[in-house]
Amino acid sequence: MSPICPIKTVIERPAVTARTIDGKAVAAEIEREVATRIAQLSYRPGLVAVRVGNDPASEIYVRNKAKKAQELGLEGTVLVFPEETSEADLLAEVARLNADDSVDGILVQLPLPKQIDSKKVIDAISPAKDVDGFHPTNVGMLHLGRPTLAPCTPAGVIRLIESTGETAADAIEGKHAVVIGRSDIVGKPMAALLLQRNATVTICHSKTRDLAAIARQADILVAAIGRPLFVTADFLKPGAIVLDVGMNRVEPDFAPHIAHDPDKTRLLRKNGSVLLGDVDFVRAREVASWIAPVPGGVGPMTIAMLMKNTVSAAERRRG
Ligand code: NAP
Repeated sequence: MSPICPIKTVIERPAVTARTIDGKAVAAEIEREVATRIAQLSYRPGLVAVRVGNDPASEIYVRNKAKKAQELGLEGTVLVFPEETSEADLLAEVARLNADDSVDGILVQLPLPKQIDSKKVIDAISPAKDVDGFHPTNVGMLHLGRPTLAPCTPAGVIRLIESTGETAADAIEGKHAVVIGRSDIVGKPMAALLLQRNATVTICHSKTRDLAAIARQADILVAAIGRPLFVTADFLKPGAIVLDVGMNRVEPDFAPHIAHDPDKTRLLRKNGSVLLGDVDFVRAREVASWIAPVPGGVGPMTIAMLMKNTVSAAERRRG
């Protein structure tokens, strides 16, 4: 009998490039929805952003939030307190805002100066006005799967994932979602929101063993770590939907790590620093089906969802 000739089959995977999730476009859509809801109200919902001290990043964040609020027809106010403000004074201010009927949303920009316990301040905000969704009551409601004011960044990520499907449910239901990061403001609420939408959810963190192997099981991968280019192509299952929450500003010493990315290299040379995500976008897009870039992916969603939360808080509280 003649030996069976082994047939070697070479399956060539066609080079694919993931579709980019356009956070600016989805955020603009939400802002239009919010502006329409505001136009139907007989009052202007009020958002108050409280800033303590002179942290330059906080200054920009707070200014942008108030500006966007004004643009959409909200009453956006910024209250600035000096660096040396005491905890008692800030708590008194929060109590005043809680009692002010014209205020629908209160946000206290973090981080706070070291003499102030931010947990105490968050706990003091009325849950009905907690538009950041950080109050323990709102966190509890979220984990119980009940309607609540959800934290803005993970709620924005959900909208981005939904935008990739034929229907919102189709994009998430039944899929394996892996969230890297377990912070109170991103990772944990992200996992709760995905679970609410019937994903099978795995949460990874700095003690997770063989993280890349777990990530490779993900149909949906959310990276919220705070480490530039941590997630490489090896972490991805072909066709995965990849959401990059990370925002990492790197300096010229990081140049060798982005030599494969001409756009970021050019920006680094031009500006002396460049913003990177937690995902190596250039390599990941060869494996993923959809990917949210940094900047222009998750970033624009956070403010849009804050505006949405403010209108929801107003509608609920004022009826
Ligand atoms: P965080 O509080 O520092 O949490 C980081 C998480 O990543 C932690 O759970 C940590 O695990 C995990 N982690 C750190 N190193 C790891 C490693 N080597 N392997 C696996 N897990 C690791 O940060 P965050 O506030 O969640 O923010 C994460 C990133 O998102 C940052 O870049 C931040 O700037 C960005 N962000 C963006 C927006 C936006 O609007 N786009 C909003 C918020 C945050 P452990 O818990 O074990 O320490």
